[in-house]
Amino acid sequence: MNKKCFGVDLGGTTTKIGLFQLDGTLIEKHEIPTNKEENGIYILDNIEAFINNVIVKNSLDIKDIIGVGIGVPGAVTDDGVVNKCINLGWDVTDVEDIMKKKTNFKIKVGNDANMAALGEYWKGGAAEFSSIALVTIGTGIGGGIIMNGRPINGFNGAAGEIGHIPIVYDETETCNCGKKGCLEQVASASGIVRVAKKFLIATDKPSTLRGAEEISAKLVFDEAKNGDIVAFEVVEYITKYLGLALANVAGIIDPECFVIGGGVSAAGQYLVDLIAANYKKYVFHPCKDTKIVLARLGNDAGMYGAAKLVIDSSKDS
Ligand SMILES: [Zn+2]
Repeated sequence: MNKKCFGVDLGGTTTKIGLFQLDGTLIEKHEIPTNKEENGIYILDNIEAFINNVIVKNSLDIKDIIGVGIGVPGAVTDDGVVNKCINLGWDVTDVEDIMKKKTNFKIKVGNDANMAALGEYWKGGAAEFSSIALVTIGTGIGGGIIMNGRPINGFNGAAGEIGHIPIVYDETETCNCGKKGCLEQVASASGIVRVAKKFLIATDKPSTLRGAEEISAKLVFDEAKNGDIVAFEVVEYITKYLGLALANVAGIIDPECFVIGGGVSAAGQYLVDLIAANYKKYVFHPCKDTKIVLARLGNDAGMYGAAKLVIDSSKDS
């Protein structure tokens, strides 16, 4: 009954480390800076050292630790190999093998967005559903897919990359990924600002956005809710593409539920309702009533999902 595990969410700036009971109770969580010096060679050592500290501080018996789950911001194959991670400076890195040798614990590694999806599926907004697609709308757009309780990595470790679905076919500017026309370019926080600026240039209609010191995605949503016509047109435009993207996802994996997370999801049910209205317009009819809900775990989702990943794998073996 005293069994525990660690869930680690390795991010480009900070790393979150949670100690969990196997029923998903978070015992304690910590955040340490991610040291990216020298192409990230210290990152895994730092995680190992921190986990050891937590074990010593809590006088834990290492026999009670069933393993460590780690979410990383890059493409990850089923056997825990990270296929380059530009954010961390990593080349192809066998995180599972390296950490196993360092710690002697069972290690499971997943993509951070997939881990966030697994967290929301386990203890968050989608806890009552068995297959979900998570879309995190923040600076960029991430996504993760859980089918029958398992994250889908894909052959290249890139399944669920909803942000880079090509969707604006006549886009002229280039996405961070190097392509043109990705969902992320119009519907991420930075994409929303970009679209708003374009709309303001293209019209003479009055808008409170014009006088704003700095336009943010939050401001666009706040002003749309307040009845600003241009802000609402921007919101309509971006939720059209979000609805269309989800309809495309439904056409392939037909999840039981979509979960909307990330900073922009602070716009709440207002955002969900507009996405849902557009989704219904575009989706194949059997998927028309698929639930769209808000994420609940915020920045802790990845940590929860990483813990769940290692718990599930210890049940398998
Ligand atoms: Zn892209």
